[in-house]
Amino acid sequence: MNTSYRELKERLAEIVDLEKTAELLRWDQQVKMPPGGSAARAERLATLGRIAHERFVDPGIGRLLDGLESFEESRPYDSVEASLVRVTRRDWRKARRVPSDLLVELTRAAALAYPAWVEARQRSDFSLFLPHVERQFELRRRYVDCFDDFDEPYDVLLDDFEPEMRTAQVRRVFERLKAEQIPLVEAVGERGHADHPPGHYPVERQRRFERDVVDRFGFDPEAWRCDETVHPFESAPSRNDIRITTRHFEDSLDGLFAAMHEFGHGLYEHQVAPELERTPLCRGASLGLHESQSRMWENLVGRSRPFWRFFWPRLKETFPQALGDVETDDWFHLVNRVQPSLIRVEADEVTYNLHIILRFELEQDLLSGHLKPTDLPEAWNARMEEYLGVEVPDDRRGVLQDVHWAGGHIGYFPTYALGNVIAAQIWERVQEDLPDLESEFEQGEFGSLRAWLGENLHKHGRKFTTAETLERVVGAPLDPEPYLRYLRDKMESAYALPGSAGPSESSAG
Ligand code: ZN
Repeated sequence: MNTSYRELKERLAEIVDLEKTAELLRWDQQVKMPPGGSAARAERLATLGRIAHERFVDPGIGRLLDGLESFEESRPYDSVEASLVRVTRRDWRKARRVPSDLLVELTRAAALAYPAWVEARQRSDFSLFLPHVERQFELRRRYVDCFDDFDEPYDVLLDDFEPEMRTAQVRRVFERLKAEQIPLVEAVGERGHADHPPGHYPVERQRRFERDVVDRFGFDPEAWRCDETVHPFESAPSRNDIRITTRHFEDSLDGLFAAMHEFGHGLYEHQVAPELERTPLCRGASLGLHESQSRMWENLVGRSRPFWRFFWPRLKETFPQALGDVETDDWFHLVNRVQPSLIRVEADEVTYNLHIILRFELEQDLLSGHLKPTDLPEAWNARMEEYLGVEVPDDRRGVLQDVHWAGGHIGYFPTYALGNVIAAQIWERVQEDLPDLESEFEQGEFGSLRAWLGENLHKHGRKFTTAETLERVVGAPLDPEPYLRYLRDKMESAYALPGSAGPSESSAG
């Protein structure tokens, strides 16, 4: 083995150890730590982050990378060796461009913005958050100025979450979604509305049912755990230490869908090839691809008819009082309800992307200075009316609902909608390769889907970009049509819509 490669790998392994230790501390902070620990925990995390960053941007790493050019070329593009050198070189060049004083300012600004956002949201008063929005976008403009290899400034921000994807490409996809999804929401109209069957769903029974579902998906207690938090999330301190969280309400079963969602994230990390452990390649390739996996298990599996053919009788048995009189079709209708609403995280499959497109557009306008932060609530409300036909009653349920801008995570939102789009693209391929999938789901079997995803997608970790991954897995670039086909089919099946809605140039595809 090449000695420079071995040295690079060893140095990166220690950096990964530091980062994964920080990940474990963050999990602990959200799941176990008493609130009094937060000040000291912030210091510990800052120290770990600083050491990891200093070690990574070290010129010695650059010299190793330079010396490995011919080694890289001698290996196949998809080999671990070539991929590790290629991806590390990209990360290293990027990390070196941002001066450490700007990084410190970004961290400090986020730390100050977070409590201001919490208070502003509580009081539903945007003016308390306004100076922080101004500051965040001003700092992000300085961040953009550190780079020169982009077509438009937003590319730089998007790249942090979706490496090498360009804003123009996302815009094309989103314009197409908008042109179809706005009329689709209108066409479904009130037929899409449905209320959760009123009743009491004891949390202990919810947990039991949920566990039956994720066990069948592939939740193995040897390598997984599940805890309860206010905001569900997934964390992977290592490939064989996957932690998901969920939450429960006594009056609804929404927690089940959160569990399936987080399971999808966890499975991606769990099925990365063992040889990538302790390298920077040992995680999902991008946030969009990650979200495609969570949405696949939550929506394409967990809201499908075959899934409920198996689980519906069990669910009824678990909650006989609340669901005894509910029919299968009503349940299917309910889990696929379409109802324009104010809150993104509660949005359904048809309206969800419109919440994202609104944020994507506003972020670009704020970054370019086209939109002044002081006019943001008005712009938000106008677009909610235009895209979803809903009136925003206050800032709490409007512009203040998401934490992302407080954290400086600008360019993050598009990855949620990209996840929907990519999930449907991969799903069409899965169905071609696994023709018996539906009958397997009807038996409560999910092993062949899990294995297919492991073999075709998960095992590669972060070796390839999203575009490369799509080319390898589905043989096509990012394409909104499979998602639109999926939505139209589902709406026709759930609500018997007459034909497809909207200007559907692709309904024959
Ligand atoms: Zn997610």
